[in-house]
Amino acid sequence: MGGLHMRMGMSLGMRVEQSVEQKLEQRIEKRLRLRQRAFALRMELVQALRGERYVPKGDCPRCNKKMTPVEIIQGFNRDPNDFTTRCSNRRCRHRFAPILVWHANAVRAEAPFYCAAQTLAQLPRKETLSPERFAREQQAVYRSAIVHYGGIGQAFRKIGIAYAFKEVADPKRKIKPFLGKLPDTVIAECADVSVYAIRKMRKQLRIARYTAPKNLN
Ligand SMILES: [Zn+2]
Repeated sequence: MGGLHMRMGMSLGMRVEQSVEQKLEQRIEKRLRLRQRAFALRMELVQALRGERYVPKGDCPRCNKKMTPVEIIQGFNRDPNDFTTRCSNRRCRHRFAPILVWHANAVRAEAPFYCAAQTLAQLPRKETLSPERFAREQQAVYRSAIVHYGGIGQAFRKIGIAYAFKEVADPKRKIKPFLGKLPDTVIAECADVSVYAIRKMRKQLRIARYTAPKNLN
């Protein structure tokens, strides 16, 4: 009898532990899904602004896991000299260099994908390059800056350097469908427009500001 009770107790304990772990895992997965949705929407905004579609790609060469863009970004070390991300498969964790694919005018191109820290670290002394030259000579930096900051000018601003070239024409018309669906700050950054201007426009159109989904449990 005692043995049976003990076994029952153990299996109950294990079940409780498992469900706590499962809950935590579900929470992490849900947060990841929300981040992925936000990232996808941000890339749609970039596409509306620039007419270019960006897709970070990371297929693990060891286990073939196809990582999502958010997993790729989360796997970076934020080290300017380490260009690898970490495989999100818990049994693998292999480090490898991801790529960035973009489509513009029915043309597909790709370059290494840099994390935000690597992108910023490579900017100094390049502020005199026009966007066209920058795109040609510093492909990976230029394209990665678009993914992380909406453009090279915004990336320069992050490190306190003024960039004299404007890239996106008529941003206000293009951002309209995104008002209220992304934070004003994100739209402002991608469109290279002040947060004040975005807020004013949103209020004039009577669109409620974006609120992050709360029910993570
Ligand atoms: Zn892997």
